[in-house]
Amino acid sequence: MMMKNSTLDDIAYKLREAKTVLIYPHVLMDGDAFGSSVALCCGLKKSGKKVTIIPEGDEGVPSYLAFLQNQCISIREIVSDEPDVCIAVDSSDTSRLEGRLDRFKSGKITINIDHHITNNFFADMNYVDTEASSTGEIIFRLLKAMDIEIDKDMAEGIYVAISTDTGGFQYTNTTKNTHLVVSELFDSGIDLERISAELYENTPYEKLKLIGEILDNVEDFCDGQAVIAAATLKMMENTGALMDQTEGIIELLRSISGVEIACLLKEVSDSQIKVSLRAKTYGDVSKIAAQYKGGGHKKAAGCTVYQGLEEVRKLMKKDIATYLQTVTNNINEQETR
Ligand code: AMP
Ligand code: MN
Ligand code: MN
Repeated sequence: MMMKNSTLDDIAYKLREAKTVLIYPHVLMDGDAFGSSVALCCGLKKSGKKVTIIPEGDEGVPSYLAFLQNQCISIREIVSDEPDVCIAVDSSDTSRLEGRLDRFKSGKITINIDHHITNNFFADMNYVDTEASSTGEIIFRLLKAMDIEIDKDMAEGIYVAISTDTGGFQYTNTTKNTHLVVSELFDSGIDLERISAELYENTPYEKLKLIGEILDNVEDFCDGQAVIAAATLKMMENTGALMDQTEGIIELLRSISGVEIACLLKEVSDSQIKVSLRAKTYGDVSKIAAQYKGGGHKKAAGCTVYQGLEEVRKLMKKDIATYLQTVTNNINEQETR
């Protein structure tokens, strides 16, 4: 596999030529995956193409992102059996396309637009920018490269992608360029009051109850440098919350004073655990996720482990402790040199 980027101009050219385009956000869409898909779908539709978004299986749009749907958005529409282009957004590798891989490959050309360091350049044309805050930031540049005027619908998709992936412009993936892009989104007339209210002031009460249960059961280890917690099926039953409402809870765990690494175990079933990992400053959790065929960024990574909750808890505690030990040793070594 050639790990080399195509240019955005080359990708824009292919997209301009295409008549039918399928957009593939990663499984369990987040704000970046869906916001990027919305912006791209609107842009391509307004330039006259047949285009639709293909989420995994029967996965729905998470309720906190449903407000982004507009008249340009089509989801799982029949467009073509042999689409000109299939384009993956915010997916580091083909495992994030799960059961859709064959359909993705049915594109005459496949394209991969992403910002994860663990991206393995799985498509015919790839554009991976690990300096970009979000895939949405890259989609902004791609739409411009296609000479598409960014309207309010596209701008709102991009804004949601950027705002959610940067934790509201707090995380260190936020750059000057991020803010420059956002300043242009304001020129397109985004309704910030509506977006912020939908994203950040619209928490279902069940989610707060779930947060309460999770925080009641946090375990700290490595002298408080690490914490681990679980969102269990039992908690979902107790609180009435849904697993996709765990979004953002891992960041709460990382925010605890003294914590460098936070881990949240999401119990999908008794033999499938989705693991979320976060680092605060010097840690690189993508290394831990990679041991389980997962991926992500230095400070935000994840993987899925096909074992029971308590086994996965043990594995993660051991791996995080080993990782912290190795990093501490390296730091000490450098200091004594
Ligand atoms: P999450 O904890 O689910 O919010 O994911 C954090 C980061 O890790 C995101 O950038 C994801 O794209 C990435 N990630 C999560 N799960 C996986 C996985 N199973 N494989 C590859 N990357 C993942
Ligand atoms: Mn994502
Ligand atoms: Mn992203």
